[in-house]
Amino acid sequence: MANGVNGVLPATKNHNDEFHNGENEDGLTAMQLFSTGEGLTYNDFIILPGFIDFTADEVDLHSPLTKKITLKAPLVSSPMDTVTESDMAIAMALCGGIGIIHHNCTSEYQANEVHKVKKYKHGFILNPVVLSPNHTVADVMNVKATHGFCGIPITANGKLGGKLLGMVTSRDIDFLDETATQQNVKLENVMTPFKNLITAPSGVTLPEANALLEKSKKGKLPIINDKDELIALMARTDLKKNRSYPNASKDENKQLLVGAAIGTRPADRLRLQHLVNAGVDVVVLDSSQGNSIYQIDMIKFIKSTYPDLQVIAGNVVTVNQAKNLIAAGADGLRVGMGSGSICITQEVMAVGRPQGTAVYKVSAYAKKHGVPIIADGGIQSIGHITKALSIGASAVMMGSLLAGTSEAPGEYFFSDGVRLKKYRGMGSIEAMDRKDANGSAMDRYFHNEMDKLKVAQGVSGSIVDKGTVLKFLPYLQCGIKHGCQDIGARSLAALRDMMYNGELRFEKRTNSAQQEGNVHGLFSYEKRLF
Ligand code: GDP
Ligand code: 5GP
Repeated sequence: MANGVNGVLPATKNHNDEFHNGENEDGLTAMQLFSTGEGLTYNDFIILPGFIDFTADEVDLHSPLTKKITLKAPLVSSPMDTVTESDMAIAMALCGGIGIIHHNCTSEYQANEVHKVKKYKHGFILNPVVLSPNHTVADVMNVKATHGFCGIPITANGKLGGKLLGMVTSRDIDFLDETATQQNVKLENVMTPFKNLITAPSGVTLPEANALLEKSKKGKLPIINDKDELIALMARTDLKKNRSYPNASKDENKQLLVGAAIGTRPADRLRLQHLVNAGVDVVVLDSSQGNSIYQIDMIKFIKSTYPDLQVIAGNVVTVNQAKNLIAAGADGLRVGMGSGSICITQEVMAVGRPQGTAVYKVSAYAKKHGVPIIADGGIQSIGHITKALSIGASAVMMGSLLAGTSEAPGEYFFSDGVRLKKYRGMGSIEAMDRKDANGSAMDRYFHNEMDKLKVAQGVSGSIVDKGTVLKFLPYLQCGIKHGCQDIGARSLAALRDMMYNGELRFEKRTNSAQQEGNVHGLFSYEKRLF
């Protein structure tokens, strides 16, 4: 046994010592906690603290997502159309996690979102808003009102890839007043023409572009190819922020990692082909009850057609469900049924399982086969993340915790003075009814096309503005590290080892213990988290 600080022996470091052998034994092992036949959720138990002989900063959050992919932070964003498209997936990957692009859209749209993540280059805006010389000042005002910026490249066809003819920036339009005549002025009359622009050639590096922007004192740098066609844009404001993401999740080509969800119908095989062409790293088979012949067939199809592609199957909550999918070749499993914040599966279908028990039971089985588990749904706080990781999960998947951030799809709106974004279950009637631009029904998450009547498994609601995930994710990671420090685990791998060897101790919480663990007895309080 290693000596601790000042020679004090770290009692919890040795599970065979007197503390775990007899009358001094404290708390329960995970196996004891989850063997009573009662289903437990995260709030139903607490982890007993361990011994600290390291700083929180030192805690290593590396954790496997699948057999072959390891993340630097165990955080995954859910494939929901109000949570993950390319903006969220880019931010998740920059912070060491991964985003799974939803499939409530055409396969072309989904593949394009994957493509945007794979092609993301820090500092470069690869899909800038572009207008044509025939657009008007009013159109620029519109862009400013919707997106908040007004540095807009002008190309011959008004699109990215068109021949660059000029730039409109705030300096070109600030002095125009708001009369209708001014608003109708065509951009060809106000833009800074191509001959006066500072541009950079494709292939320019970030430091070179940075130097050009600094020297020219301009706010925007259009990047063009040898035919003067626009291929990207850089903004001085981004360079000034000068953020770096040393923990970003990247593939061997230094491109960000990204996942995408698919179903198990024949059309999903074509969808998968689009996603693979776009460079997807991992696919998630998206079903609330994954233990089906359709999913087993799909796993086998993927493994024989794209042997290098990682497949996360699910969702499952029992060992028997997990057994089939692992036997079929799943590289990871998504665990959770009915625990999501927007979910009414347990109420409507009468099936599911409390999430704590589901995560523990499936993880304990999957571990023997080397298959990592993602705890999906019901994560409301950092404490829930740490609890999920301490009972066997390798990563957590979040919906509501990430919805309402600026990277989540959808526009903000105000209700009673509060800034909100929509958040809805993929099995809500609203999500199942989503139509594409041609008015035809989109791929459906839980809905069988043969069904005449839809049975919703989710609700639709809204969530308060949470700012950017680029600030929220570091807060989550810092919180997990502090939790691990209190537990006495230097890494997530150590945390799992401590749980399986019985060193990690738990206790059940009664209702009054749960109340005691929350803020109580105050007339009013403010809860600021970071
Ligand atoms: P502007 O001078 O009004 O264009 O705005 P700023 O340069 O101050 O801010 C633009 C911010 O919006 C930067 O952080 C950009 O990365 C971001 N951005 C995202 N998409 C676009 C886009 O299509 N065009 C522009 N101009 N900026 C974008
Ligand atoms: P949250 O993080 O909001 O608690 O849960 C998100 C998870 O809920 C998703 O990752 C997904 O597994 C699940 N989910 C998303 N939409 C629905 C739905 O409409 N019904 C059900 N049953 N689960 C959903």
